[in-house]
Amino acid sequence: MSIIVMKFGGTSVADPEKIRTAAKRAIAFRAQGHQVAMVVSAMGKTTDQLEELAHQVASEPHKREWDQLMATGEQVTISLMAMALHDMGVEAISFTAGQIGMVTDTAHTKARLKRINANRIHRELKAGRVVIIAGFQGVTEAGDVTTLGRGGSNVTLVAVAASLGAERCENFTDVDGVYTADPRIVPNARKLDAISYDEMLELASLGADVLHHRAVEFAKKYNVPIHVRCSSNNRPGTMIVAETPAMEDIVVRGAALKDKLARITLKNVPDIPGVAATIFHAIARAGIVVDDIIQTITGDKAATVSFTLDLRDLPDAKAVCEKLRGRLNGIDLTYEVGLGKVSVVGVGMRTHTGVAELMFGALAEAKVNIQNITTSEIKISCIIDEHDGHKALRVVHDAFDLHLGPAPGPGKPKAKPKRRKAAKAKAARKKRSTKK
Ligand code: ADP
Ligand code: ASP
Ligand code: MG
Repeated sequence: MSIIVMKFGGTSVADPEKIRTAAKRAIAFRAQGHQVAMVVSAMGKTTDQLEELAHQVASEPHKREWDQLMATGEQVTISLMAMALHDMGVEAISFTAGQIGMVTDTAHTKARLKRINANRIHRELKAGRVVIIAGFQGVTEAGDVTTLGRGGSNVTLVAVAASLGAERCENFTDVDGVYTADPRIVPNARKLDAISYDEMLELASLGADVLHHRAVEFAKKYNVPIHVRCSSNNRPGTMIVAETPAMEDIVVRGAALKDKLARITLKNVPDIPGVAATIFHAIARAGIVVDDIIQTITGDKAATVSFTLDLRDLPDAKAVCEKLRGRLNGIDLTYEVGLGKVSVVGVGMRTHTGVAELMFGALAEAKVNIQNITTSEIKISCIIDEHDGHKALRVVHDAFDLHLGPAPGPGKPKAKPKRRKAAKAKAARKKRSTKK
């Protein structure tokens, strides 16, 4: 009997009616002959409200207690979901992370999963029960509650699926699937039928928060397909799957925007071997994830090192840098906030050129200043002012005609004809409506 693991995000379990609807979906999957495990998030905006509450009692809430509080949101949903299923005549059992040995490291607020004890889940599934698991939370070896970072229920989903050897994950959310860009910002973004693990991994890391990047990492590692779909309809969503050769035909699959970035600049850094290692070792030890790094040699055996990071990590990073100031005599430190990053992603970039040119041209035309550029085999990212973020995402999305279908690569004669076709169709529509 195959196992399906379903996940319902906050908006999909926001009220009792939605919880009952989710329960009915689980029953429908069972009726098709699957064993069903469910991973659920906290209801609606509960996690945001808990965060607010924490900030009302403390300016910098203690991290262990933060996790203890945040994990309560998911605990409410698991029990309600199990009650709803019982009420519908279906056996179900709910579990917190501690109850199924979902062990993480001790990095409170962004813990990493180490292992899951799947035996208990298997036993319950075999006994014919729907198993409901609290997303987002973990437990340390010592038994302390941890959380996996915002959006972490996605990580729970894929980790549970991998540990159970599930056929696939069904990720129910508030959008129809993965789009070419965040549809809240780019209204003409287009839903993708499929996307490769690598592309989704880049998009998720670069701000497409429809999935947590670590969830995609797990999915790729254990080859678990994820179906991202909407909880309020039955339409097929987007399949996140292993890459196929045909995927390289599409140069740019999607665009993403990351906001709330900060930058730390260290000037007068001694230009000698080992200094960069010292700086980033200290940063890594504090559990801070660094975004992009730039080093420039400024002459006189001195260098300037700057790096971007998530704004939420700035207080911790500041503390580390102030300590470094003591160790690296004479360095100057500056801290900036209000930065963003716009990116394009596609496996076709491996075999096509000219993507950077088109992207930079679009940003220039929109008068968006590029502060730094980073690339990988399948992505190009530009650091920009946070205020320009939405405009930048829209113009880049437009430049690659992502709303039209397979993105035309430079040298592929698709872009212009398609644009002309779209413009013609638009003009015809306008004519028809003025005639009316
Ligand atoms: P859930 O709580 O169900 O996990 P999230 O709010 O975390 O849902 O994620 C879904 C949201 O992700 C969507 O409402 C959408 O605005 C946002 N999003 C960002 N980028 C994308 C993208 N490329 N495709 C689809 N949704 C995206
Ligand atoms: N409830 C957590 C959040 O809102 C985890 C999740 O939903 O994935 O981020
Ligand atoms: Mg989410």
